[in-house]
Amino acid sequence: MGALEQAKTMSREDVLNKIEALKLQEAGIHAGPLRAHLDAALAENAEEGTELTVAAALNNGDTDQVLLGVLRGGPEKIFEGLAIAAYALGTEKKVLYLPEADAELAKSLENTAAKYQAEVKAEFLNIRENKGNALIHIVTCADLADAFADQYTPGVYVSVNGGEVKKAAPDTKIADLADTEGAKALLLGYRLHQPEDAQLTVAEAGIANGVVRVLTEKDCIVAETEKKLTASRKQSCGKCVFCREGLIQLQYMQKEITEGRGKAEYLDLTKEIGEAMCYSTPCTMGQVSAEVALTATELFGKEYEAHIKKKNCPAGVCSSFVNIYIDPKLCSGCEECVDVCPKDCIEGKAKYIHMIDDFDCTKCGKCIEACPEDAIVQTTGKVPKLPNRLTKVGKFRKH
Ligand code: SF4
Ligand code: SF4
Ligand code: SF4
Repeated sequence: MGALEQAKTMSREDVLNKIEALKLQEAGIHAGPLRAHLDAALAENAEEGTELTVAAALNNGDTDQVLLGVLRGGPEKIFEGLAIAAYALGTEKKVLYLPEADAELAKSLENTAAKYQAEVKAEFLNIRENKGNALIHIVTCADLADAFADQYTPGVYVSVNGGEVKKAAPDTKIADLADTEGAKALLLGYRLHQPEDAQLTVAEAGIANGVVRVLTEKDCIVAETEKKLTASRKQSCGKCVFCREGLIQLQYMQKEITEGRGKAEYLDLTKEIGEAMCYSTPCTMGQVSAEVALTATELFGKEYEAHIKKKNCPAGVCSSFVNIYIDPKLCSGCEECVDVCPKDCIEGKAKYIHMIDDFDCTKCGKCIEACPEDAIVQTTGKVPKLPNRLTKVGKFRKH
């Protein structure tokens, strides 16, 4: 007997009691006992006086979307769980929301959805329009289906460094899931952590979006923060001032810092704006998208200081702080680099020392790979004296 059939042999109250007895949890950002979550949805619906719909989705603030892997791994299970939740709440109306970019996935699920009399929509879940509806996480649906098929085990779904999504027992330590040797920082859920937090369990780490990522010396904290804020800006519906404007400001400041125009006051401003966003927005996008910037500035202040005061990116990632030059002592004038440069910004001719025009160079590194003499140097430090006009190989003198 399938999980839904099993649930339907029970009364609605018994289904809710089983959810409580198994200590099932609502997954995602608003994690907590599922029974209480469903009771609260019923109470809110009674206040609104509208027909109740159960809507399953990822959290709006989830830009990584690794938890969609749970759906891709077993779509039928998600619809079963959604239908069980609807049965427990006494409604027939069920909708599965997928990210806007996943229209093809939504289409491929239409037949399965029809089997469960559910709708599938590839659109942003509008919190205001869903007032009075029961919103549950896609992962909660998977747990519900497992629970009524007597296969439920507690745990947290995680994807390590973008790998396959797997359920980890709640007491599993991060260090047992990921190789954290050489870690500079850990991204656990929406927050950055110090490497020592690898000793936290997955339950303690509060991984609401399934993301476990190890950042090493090769990763720039500021650039990573900027990337995540850019992803949030793209996904935000922009209807709330604090979310829309807050994301613009936070992303702008990180971008300025990575491009060498950072100001010391940006750190305080990031805190002020980020905290205001967490408390002043109605959906999870506004509530969590500032977390990465807040934790980055709080825990990795030295990396920000290096960018702002020393004009240096310790990871060598921010290209504004990286210099690429041709060592005049090593260049043989072979012209290989000229052929690969996509910007035509290497000057030279056969048997002459070549020179890079810094203005147009994008620091793509193609010339470095092409140079047979290892004469092209990438550095975040000082650039030595270089020729300022075409000079024959072997004729360059510093003074
Ligand atoms: S918090 Fe952001 S994403 Fe959520 S409704 Fe407001 S503007 Fe849209
Ligand atoms: S780094 Fe790229 S753009 Fe710059 S000189 Fe080399 S090949 Fe050209
Ligand atoms: S590829 Fe290297 S050695 Fe050849 S011209 Fe360019 S910098 Fe000089």
